[in-house]
Amino acid sequence: MNKIENLGFSTKALHVGNEPDKTNGAVAPAIYQTSTYAQSSPGVHQGYEYSRTHNPTRTRLQDCLASLENAKHCIVTASGMSAEMLVLHTIEKGANILCGDDVYGGTYRLFTTVFNKDFNFTFADSSQLDLFLAKIEELRPKLIWIESPTNPLLKICDIKAISEAGNRIGAYTVVDNTFMSPYLCNPLDLGATISYHSVSKYINGHSDVVAGALMLNDEVLYKDLARLQNSIGPSQSPFDSWLVLRGVKTLGVRMEQHQMNAQVIAEFLEGHSLVEKVTYPGLKSHPQYELAKNQYRGFGGMITFYIKGGLDNARLFLENIKLFVLAESLGGVESLIESPAIMTHASIPKSEREKIGLTDNLIRLSVGIEDVNDLLEDIKLAFSKCN
Ligand code: PLP
Repeated sequence: MNKIENLGFSTKALHVGNEPDKTNGAVAPAIYQTSTYAQSSPGVHQGYEYSRTHNPTRTRLQDCLASLENAKHCIVTASGMSAEMLVLHTIEKGANILCGDDVYGGTYRLFTTVFNKDFNFTFADSSQLDLFLAKIEELRPKLIWIESPTNPLLKICDIKAISEAGNRIGAYTVVDNTFMSPYLCNPLDLGATISYHSVSKYINGHSDVVAGALMLNDEVLYKDLARLQNSIGPSQSPFDSWLVLRGVKTLGVRMEQHQMNAQVIAEFLEGHSLVEKVTYPGLKSHPQYELAKNQYRGFGGMITFYIKGGLDNARLFLENIKLFVLAESLGGVESLIESPAIMTHASIPKSEREKIGLTDNLIRLSVGIEDVNDLLEDIKLAFSKCN
């Protein structure tokens, strides 16, 4: 059969792991809703023994997601957090871990309340490159954990420079690539060890699945992660794997629409009298705009802004906006809005939050793929209810 080399992103999203069924020609993949597999003789099977370890529907998804990150391997897990847990189990106890100072609240909670007895965590601003590189030299961490853009402040770090520094001292560099999705950034191509995703967000894209994924090239680390995934057991279910296989097909077209809408909304917010400051990587006012332009293939669908009038106005705005659903999470086709201080990042102590600018008047938008004029109208109406 002819083999086309170097498939484009959306072709891979549609075809890798989505080959028609060899036994009956079905175009849509089957949901192998089975826990176990028949063996012809003890220990003789067709590569599948038990679904905690492997499942054909999950295998298809892993093949597809690996291809989107230009990775050799992918492990899909039952949540983003369980993928993070697997990574931490690969690090020898007592090691130093360096982490960006603005990460998803759940990541902060996992590091500071679950693994705090096992490792020495240091949090530093990964967007201040010289300072962050100096921390790598000083601490010689075994693991460097960065998010870019960060959740929720959208700070951007130089993935290539940090990964190179990590590689020089034999540290793993993990990039939480959730906000950009593999459509806009491939951290492994920039030297990172693992590209990590909360698949619950853009990759699935329909707010109906919780899942995580680790994409990597390192054989030894992959085998260790696969052993841990099988031993601890945070396996993705066949049905959820199938839903993601379906959702990811449109990742490219969704991301284009997300970022087109986000650019229009960010520019509108920047000119509004009730907005103190807006942060979006596609605005020239973003402190790392040039880095974003070089490092990414687009600017994504996430915006944050500080509303004037403190928590009172933030509440009024959030109670009165209608098309943007007031909910945690992000990256779905429908627009979502939230207050990080009260919702997604409440697990970070107030004093720590305020140190980095995560104040009560910060509002985070996950801009969906609706008609942008309707979204603008919704925002204008919500502002009109504020003081
Ligand atoms: N990383 C980021 C940037 C996130 O926003 C989230 C969830 O909100 C996670 C990781 C955790 O993923 P999950 O909710 O799928 O466990």
